[in-house]
Amino acid sequence: MNLSRRGFFKAAGAAFATSMAFELSSKSETLAVEPSADWKLVNTEEYTNICCYCSGGCGVICSTRDGELVNIEGDPDHPINEGGLCPKGATMFQLRNVVDPETREIIKNTNRKTRPMVRRPGASEWEDITWDDAVAEIAQWVKKTRDETFETMHDGITVNRCHGIASLGGSQQNSEEEYLINKMMRSLGVIAIDNQARV
Ligand code: SF4
Repeated sequence: MNLSRRGFFKAAGAAFATSMAFELSSKSETLAVEPSADWKLVNTEEYTNICCYCSGGCGVICSTRDGELVNIEGDPDHPINEGGLCPKGATMFQLRNVVDPETREIIKNTNRKTRPMVRRPGASEWEDITWDDAVAEIAQWVKKTRDETFETMHDGITVNRCHGIASLGGSQQNSEEEYLINKMMRSLGVIAIDNQARV
């Protein structure tokens, strides 16, 4: 069938009019949405940020209203992702806020941990610990483990290495953080150092 440019637009217009007539007569839910309903980003402030999930480093725009995060989406101006996000990054909003299955309201994610916790040897439950105590305890365990497992000589060769500690970096760490972690681990003599850049 030959269809001229003018004919195409006529046909498309007729199809659209028919579709609209159907929508109006069938009380479509889409058209039933209140036209006065606020656009979700009305009165928000925007901040650019980086996705926290992997070393891809995709850019995101975080929108807040009254100090509360209300939306996260890909940043179209970011050179890495140009607005796109993988499924994991696209659900980043749920780290902090989720939809209540009962009320359909957006509520704080109750599974999100905002304080350090510790599970003591032999214990089955986790308990809260302050940041100061957590850092102090980690430092004590690192010192103790390093002192007990540090090896200076092996088969007559100076090795100065620590077998008792391993370091595994997370995908959320950027290059500068990884550099510092590597530097610190090497200074302790740790040789088992790795990082998983993506999950
Ligand atoms: S997790 Fe996905 S969205 Fe986030 S930085 Fe990696 S590729 Fe990008």
